[in-house]
Amino acid sequence: MERKVRVRFAPSPTGGLHIGGVRTALYNYLIAKRNNGTMILRIEDTDQTRYVEGAEEYIKEALEWVGIKLDESPWHGGAFAPYRQSERKHLYKEYALKLVEDGNAYYAFDTEEEWNEKRKELEAAGIVAPQYNGITRLQMKNSLTLGEEEVKRKLAAGEPYVIRLKIPKKEEISVHDLIRGWVTFHSPLLDDKVLLKSDGMPTYHLANVVDDYLMQISHVIRGEEWLPSAPIHVLLYQFLGWKEVMPQFAHLPLIMNPDGNGKLSKRYADQLGFPVFPLQWTNPEKQETMMGYREEGYFPEVMVNFLVLLGWNAGTEQEIFSMEQLIEAFTIEKIGKSGAKFDINKAKWFNHQYLKAKPNEELATYLLEEAKKQQVSLSKEKAEKVVAILKERITFVKDFLTEGKYLFEAPQTFDEQIAGKKWNQPLVDVLNAYKSALQNHEGAFDAHTAKDLLNKTTDSLGIKFGSVMQGVRLAITGSGTGADLMETIAYLGTEEVGKRIDFSVNNLKVVA
Ligand code: GLU
Repeated sequence: MERKVRVRFAPSPTGGLHIGGVRTALYNYLIAKRNNGTMILRIEDTDQTRYVEGAEEYIKEALEWVGIKLDESPWHGGAFAPYRQSERKHLYKEYALKLVEDGNAYYAFDTEEEWNEKRKELEAAGIVAPQYNGITRLQMKNSLTLGEEEVKRKLAAGEPYVIRLKIPKKEEISVHDLIRGWVTFHSPLLDDKVLLKSDGMPTYHLANVVDDYLMQISHVIRGEEWLPSAPIHVLLYQFLGWKEVMPQFAHLPLIMNPDGNGKLSKRYADQLGFPVFPLQWTNPEKQETMMGYREEGYFPEVMVNFLVLLGWNAGTEQEIFSMEQLIEAFTIEKIGKSGAKFDINKAKWFNHQYLKAKPNEELATYLLEEAKKQQVSLSKEKAEKVVAILKERITFVKDFLTEGKYLFEAPQTFDEQIAGKKWNQPLVDVLNAYKSALQNHEGAFDAHTAKDLLNKTTDSLGIKFGSVMQGVRLAITGSGTGADLMETIAYLGTEEVGKRIDFSVNNLKVVA
């Protein structure tokens, strides 16, 4: 029987969710939706020392922003509640005890100091990075070395202990990964991971496997950094008798720094001035604020589109994908094995593509919001015109106000280089004559009329239209480049253009 697809995104609330985490959530979501499955979010907060205030709310908001809808979660509930591991604490111990009972795990009574001592001793003897493993466990205080009576006595006396997984000696542990195929691990290289801590809390490994089992997870889709944990998980499924229902694994390729060196780091991103968080995040302890894609002006659809392509491609030329199209097209088989280089310019390119494809009315609403924030007064009607004139040229909504500054206020300064080259007497003559033509114009005025009048003006003066275009632009906008000039003139209107011509003619010096 085909197994029902149930996938989970299982973040730990230890800070702002990195964009790599958003990509993991997105891949899970796409697999769920494509297969009419269920998307689950589980908060993995067993390590209370790393818990960060506000991180859970941040995760929720970030996923909502990009449009990942959860079917089951701490906030939505579901048949397998609770979805926070700290609220499931009572569930885990019995599995740890079963593992002990079956001889697959053991009690360890060593204190941290005792293990540190041992480690130093081993290091002094030339062992690099000593582990609590098949060899060293025989030299420690645990239920494999102490007599049964002694163990019972210690337990009865309430001495602190942890439960460790008993990694089999010399075995090959094979993990089947949907992206990488079979990956084999040698058991002597693995350490006897702690499963249950002395405070009774499970560690990641135990809680993760128990919950994936209890929540009937069909696919574990997570970052490559978890691949080394996979053999531990496979052993746990085997020891707990759950091999038959073990989820399928898919470990996603890393997102790399733009130069391909190492995993995308905040430090590197800071240097290049781009965010690694979907939303702005303020660390509650340090009160340090980190930039977010949303606040930088990226659209949520862009976030989805560029993140999905970091590690996956449809195998076609298509680059622009809506969430619906991705749900159609996304398959695990097309996820790559090698790390994907992060490219912020590509993200910007996507933002530009999405921006220019949006209806003017929608863009005008965003522009009005932005204008309000920046205390620029603008009517709805004007906003719609501004977006129509500029949308082909800009990347972010906020650029309307900077790139299109000349649409909101008359230039006070002029590009000197261009003025030095173009500001000659014939141009000034054209401008003065054009001003009169504009003043005398009656009736509707649009880009077409603006052009027609300029054409007539240059013709009557016997000057080539093309030779004055940049000068006219300079007079009206202060710069040598910008949106379509005739559209700009039509937008500003005859009166404003007349004023601007006067100001430039009075302020710029004619070159010989
Ligand atoms: N809690 C782990 C994390 O923070 C989950 C890893 C997994 O998906 O198994 O990423």
